[in-house]
Amino acid sequence: MSEYQAIKEEMCEIGRRMYARHFVAANEGNLSVRVDEDRVLCTPTFFCKGVMSPDDISTVNMQGEQLAGKRKRTSEVLLHLEIMKERPEIRGVVHGHPPHATAFAVAREPIPTGVHPEADVFLGEVPIADYATPGDDRLARTILPFVHKCNTIVLANHGTVSFDVSLEQAYWWTEILDAYCRMLILARQVGRVQRLSDAECRDLIELKQRFGLSDPRAGEEFADADLTTSPLFRDTWAQSRADARAFGRTDIEDGLVDKIAKRVVELMKQ
Ligand SMILES: [Zn+2]
Repeated sequence: MSEYQAIKEEMCEIGRRMYARHFVAANEGNLSVRVDEDRVLCTPTFFCKGVMSPDDISTVNMQGEQLAGKRKRTSEVLLHLEIMKERPEIRGVVHGHPPHATAFAVAREPIPTGVHPEADVFLGEVPIADYATPGDDRLARTILPFVHKCNTIVLANHGTVSFDVSLEQAYWWTEILDAYCRMLILARQVGRVQRLSDAECRDLIELKQRFGLSDPRAGEEFADADLTTSPLFRDTWAQSRADARAFGRTDIEDGLVDKIAKRVVELMKQ
């Protein structure tokens, strides 16, 4: 039995879930687990994540040099290592191209907050990192401004990366994000998206704290009115060439337009 057999089996299981849920197609995506100070297990390049066995998992050091494994390590492990260097408590990193979240990445549409409790509690605000060609350290550098403020990042025109103290939890954030993005896209087809009130958003942040999950928005520096308008990452949208076109505060503004229209009709009747 190879070293770290149980962790490698868990990586294969998460790979199967990723492939089954269409978060990765063909040979896309990658997973990694930090097993000690200078050793990380990662998935191989050009290999389907849905059919891996423990022997297919590679081992690298924190510089990305391959230490063991019959298959070549993924080039995108450099992105994973950058996260692990910045956040030593992080053990698992998941990168994929989940289609609903990646639709937001391609549209460069920031994912709205204050819509669905699970998304607000478990993900909080999700930033969009600027695009960079995959394969070298340029992609890794795009996420640095965000790594300390969240556990899930959308990669513009590319996909997503999520990370946490275990691989399982890192995977959950990708699954919750894609399910949430699917709801948003469907809701748009049904009609409008009704945002929660500022007070309801504040309640969710407090609930999150009771679960022991931190949220930078819990600080006093943000007024209630900021909580539905992405106070953490709004200033980074220009850098990432993102803009809230489809899911801005237009729904609230639409409500205002309705109110004004009704009032005008009332006045015309008088
Ligand atoms: Zn990718």
